[in-house]
Parts: sequence; structure tokens; C-alpha cells
Amino acid sequence: MTHLDHLLTEAIELFNRTEDMAELEQVKARYLGRHGQLTELLKGLGKIPPEERPAVGSRINQAKESLEAALSRRREAIQEKKLEEQLIGEKLDVTLPGRGTGMGGLHPITLALEKIQSLFHSVGFTVASGPEIETDFYNFTALNIPENHPARAMHDTFYVDDENGGAGAHLLRTHTSPVQIRYMESNPPPLKVIAPGRVYRCDSDLTHTPMFHQVEGLWIDESANFSALKGILSDFMQHFFERDDLPVRFRPSFFPFTEPSAEMDIGCVMCKTGCRVCSYTGWLEVLGCGMVHPNVFKHVNIDSQKYVGFAFGLGVERLGMLRYGVNDLRLFFENDLRFLKQFN
Ligand SMILES: [Zn+2]
Repeated sequence: MTHLDHLLTEAIELFNRTEDMAELEQVKARYLGRHGQLTELLKGLGKIPPEERPAVGSRINQAKESLEAALSRRREAIQEKKLEEQLIGEKLDVTLPGRGTGMGGLHPITLALEKIQSLFHSVGFTVASGPEIETDFYNFTALNIPENHPARAMHDTFYVDDENGGAGAHLLRTHTSPVQIRYMESNPPPLKVIAPGRVYRCDSDLTHTPMFHQVEGLWIDESANFSALKGILSDFMQHFFERDDLPVRFRPSFFPFTEPSAEMDIGCVMCKTGCRVCSYTGWLEVLGCGMVHPNVFKHVNIDSQKYVGFAFGLGVERLGMLRYGVNDLRLFFENDLRFLKQFN
């Protein structure tokens, strides 16, 4: 049956000439498909004399098997070639320059916060945190700022559920002082704690953003006094600005939650003879502080006859701007990598 041999040779030759799977399938269909040449031969078996059928049928089936074997060999060969080409295409060129690891870095405010925390930690302060959505009671009343007190108007508060405020209202905390109240409620004195965190006020310009960071400190025991407060804060500022000769001064001030109260100034870190940052005074306002008001103790059931305490609060952005020489507070939150990369 030379026709069958010829067909087999031709098919295998065609298989081996194909270069991809789709082409191979097309060629396969030409011989083994529903109307393929070999299929047609099998269909034609009925037309030949019965005594010849087994021998012819067996030869056609052999040819079909050979064809299928050739087909799967070709399939493997095409796959192998494709893999090889892929491996060559994706070959690693070890002589190419590196792409860098893109490690990222810490935000300058995070760096300033970490430095502040570690300095206070080194003199025995623990760190506390509290909710950013507060009640009117914790943000104002417990801190000796009753309703209709002018200090409330100064805070430009974001109210969450009652824009008129009032005792039951929720608000975005305007300072980290509520954490002190919460901490005193659950920890009996003596205690030494700082509360770093985000605070919110409806304000935006060169030196204000609606969200900023504060660190509040509180020290309560039986003998805390103003000179200890001054000592701790002076040491802190000198270490934070890494200047042993940094001059400091305390000016009398008013806060509802401390009595007496003071503002702390440091000598201008930008100039020696006066500049725009210090308004040509040579001094920079950096912090508010004072002895805890007995009314605050009353709200948290601490005996103000037995215990005394001092508290302070500072703005992290303010210190960060002075420490890193940044002249616009908003730069910290614009997420411009050219700015942020300078700190790492
Ligand atoms: Zn200055």
C-alpha cells in the first residue's frame, strides 16, 4: 500500500516543518481530523473486499499510531524550543548596573517624635496614647475648661456630631491633654508619662496645618515642683537641639489646666543677632507648661493636698521646623520626595 506509506512520510515531513502549536494542529487536522486523509481511509474500509479488511485496517491503524507518535514528538520539540528561547531572552546580565533597593526612610516628623520620646524615656517617662476622637468632657471639661470658657473658642475645634459643642459632643481632640486625664483615671500616682500624638484644629497657614502633632508630659508625685520642671525641660531642649549652651527662659502665662503657668522660650537657633524666625527678638517660643491645677486633680480623684504635679505640652512640627531649618510647616505634609529625602 504505497499510497499509505507516501501519506505517512508526507505527514511526518510536514509536522517537522511546523514552528508553533497552532500550525501543528492545522497540519494534524489535515490527516487525523474528522475529514482528514487517514480518517477517510479508515472510513473507506467498508468498500474493500471483506477478506482484505483486517490486514488493510491493521496497516492503517499502525500508520495512525506512527503519525500520533510523530505528532507528540513534534509537540515536545516545539515546547522545548520555546522554553529555550525564553531562557535566552530572560538571561540575567550580571554586568548591568544595580537598580537600588528603594529602602525608603522615616518622615521628618516621625524622626522628631522618636527623638523627643527617646529623650524623655531616658529620664524615666513612659509613653501613653489615647483616642483621637474625644468627648467634650475629656478634651475640655476635665481640663478645667468649662462650657462657654473663652479657651474653647481659641481651639478652633472640629466637632464630629454637634457643631455647637456641649457636654455630650464628640470632637477631634485639639490637644493631647485628654490622654493625661485618661491616664490619671487608670493609674494611681506617682506617675511620669508623655502622650505623643496627632491633634486637630481648623487652621491652615505657614505655621499651622489642620492636623499636627503634640507631645504632652505629666509628672505627679508628692514632691514635684517648678524647679524640677524647669530642669527637665531645659535639659530636654539642650539635648534636642544638641547645644549645651542653649539659653532658655520661662515667662508667666495662662492655661486653664495649670497654675502657675509658663511659656518656655529658647535662644533662637537660627541666628545670633536676630532674624525673621525669631521676629528679631533672639527668642523662640517652644512650649507651654505649669503646675497641674487642683481642679484637674479633682476630676480624676487625686488628692491635691497630698500630690503635686507638673505638665507641659509642645508642638512636634514646631520643634522639627527649628531643628531641621524648615520654613513652611505645610512642606511636611505635601509628600514631595525631593523634600522628604533630605532627612534620610
Ligand atoms: Zn533668630
